[in-house]
Amino acid sequence: MKKTVHVIGAGAVGISCAIHLLSDGHNVVLLDREGPAAGASFGNAGAIVNGSCLPTATPGIVLSALKMLLNKGPLSIQAKHALSLTPWLLRFVNQSRETNYLNSAEHLIALTNHANSSWQRLLSNTPCQSLMVQNGWLRLFETTAAFDANLAARELMDQLQVPYQLLNQQEVRDLEPNLAPIFKHGFFQSDCHSINNPGRMLESLTDHFIALGGTFKQCNIQDIQIQNEQITLKTNQSDLSVEKIVLCTGAWSTQLTKGLNYRAPLAAERGYHMMLPATDAISRPVVNADRGFVICPMESGLRVTSQVELADVDAPADYQKIQSYLPDVQHMLPSIEPKIESCWMGPRPSFPDSLPVISQFSEHIYFAFGHQHLGLTLGPITGELIADLVAQRAPNIDLTPYRHDRF
Ligand SMILES: Cc1cc2nc3c(=O)[nH]c(=O)nc-3n(C[C@H](O)[C@H](O)[C@H](O)COP(=O)(O)OP(=O)(O)OC[C@H]3O[C@@H](n4cnc5c(N)ncnc54)[C@H](O)[C@@H]3O)c2cc1C
Repeated sequence: MKKTVHVIGAGAVGISCAIHLLSDGHNVVLLDREGPAAGASFGNAGAIVNGSCLPTATPGIVLSALKMLLNKGPLSIQAKHALSLTPWLLRFVNQSRETNYLNSAEHLIALTNHANSSWQRLLSNTPCQSLMVQNGWLRLFETTAAFDANLAARELMDQLQVPYQLLNQQEVRDLEPNLAPIFKHGFFQSDCHSINNPGRMLESLTDHFIALGGTFKQCNIQDIQIQNEQITLKTNQSDLSVEKIVLCTGAWSTQLTKGLNYRAPLAAERGYHMMLPATDAISRPVVNADRGFVICPMESGLRVTSQVELADVDAPADYQKIQSYLPDVQHMLPSIEPKIESCWMGPRPSFPDSLPVISQFSEHIYFAFGHQHLGLTLGPITGELIADLVAQRAPNIDLTPYRHDRF
């Protein structure tokens, strides 16, 4: 029987869930305290990395993390949050053991293998199709040491049959002629796509959802309560009695599950971007593996993304480090105008095993959060899987690895 489903959180995950639930014939109300794409989904690098399989907790991560911390690299841990992050860090280190790492890789690719096709299905019959282009995912190495450090990732991709191409210095130049000739090695996944304005894509998809009969409501949910099997959303306005909910509030999700007595090790891996003037000097997102940042040509300018800052999700942003990458970006792409137009911070919602929760929590409550560095990639497939769960249809992916009670 068709129900009214309230989807909480209008990021890449929530909007995808809302559209797929609506397609199934449910009444759908999408709630967000700000608007579509107000969280991490707004300012990411826009890459849809089909076949991405590398969990964040890799064997040897402890040593490389220590090096990054000591060299003031892209990783940082805010000292005042270090104690509260310790349980998450311990689980994360445990996940870097070979068997755990391989398990996560297999369960990650079971989802990311559907990235391209699920995005295409989501965008079919929408006016947003031109915002997604197949231009590949390019990772470049200035030094052979950095290229060699990437060997384990390539071996994992070989094992899981993820297609990629290795490039020499000349082939890198053929692909991106305006980059400085500093890259000795390249690594290219040509089947990946990118979205050159994730914020606008998600706003357009929300408009499409509304045009199809969905409802969007701005509303800050403060708590979720259940009494006598009735779900109540406590909001900054009036309380809402609802039939079914899907919780998609990214890195804020575990703040809202306290009323359900559900706790899980979800951390905010906060990332940053700075915007420089628009340029057509590059034609795809490019990772500088040595220096740890990505440059992405967006319709609103050149976006530079970087950093994993482990801190409280709502701690104030500090834009110093992202701004300090400006000389590195100039070194890599000499033609840019070195003018920072804006900066942004967003929290990646991450579990230690790098897998999201896509799960039915109780008869009328569903969870879809924890998509770490891949929430844009995985939003549409998550929406399909949540729609399957709500419809009690057998999904075509085994959802056991993504259960909420795996911790
Ligand atoms: C710098 C950076 C680069 C990235 N690059 C990529 C990339 O190239 N490719 C990729 O796939 N992924 C990338 N990611 C990761 C990706 O952005 C996230 O995984 C994804 O955005 C998470 O989506 P979400 O919908 O789960 O959460 P969010 O986008 O954070 O959305 C959560 C929503 O919930 C709302 N909300 C929260 N609390 C409440 C409440 N109490 N009441 C009502 N509403 C609430 C928020 O306003 C927000 O709109 C990147 C992330 C960062 C930070």
